[in-house]
Amino acid sequence: MSTLFSKIIDGEIPGEFVYQDEHLVVIKDIYPKAPVHVLMIPRKPIINLDDLCPEDQTLMGYMMLKVPEIAAQLGLDKGYRTILNTGKGGGQEVFHLHIHILGGAEALPFT
Ligand code: AMP
Repeated sequence: MSTLFSKIIDGEIPGEFVYQDEHLVVIKDIYPKAPVHVLMIPRKPIINLDDLCPEDQTLMGYMMLKVPEIAAQLGLDKGYRTILNTGKGGGQEVFHLHIHILGGAEALPFT
């Protein structure tokens, strides 16, 4: 089943891309909780951390290393918050793994 984020990645519904490569995309969150709020999403439709398999190890490492690059690109030189919600009980609403990157404010909300 195609996820909301797969549809954005495939151009079926609009998204505001700030970065993309062969492994992942970064889009602006449609309901930003901070002056800067983007979502890093792997092109592979992994549901969440519970859905990871050993073959995803390289991809997840790639994403972690890409976070500070994106944060720098977005001017978050004073720091930023990363959030990765897993499952309904963890606040996950879109079941396609994504890392929230938030920043640009003195105090950030819990998301
Ligand atoms: P989560 O609760 O971790 O699953 O986060 C899902 C995030 O996706 C929320 O912060 C939403 O604001 C965001 N979101 C929902 N629909 C869209 C959309 N069409 N484009 C960009 N972000 C979205």
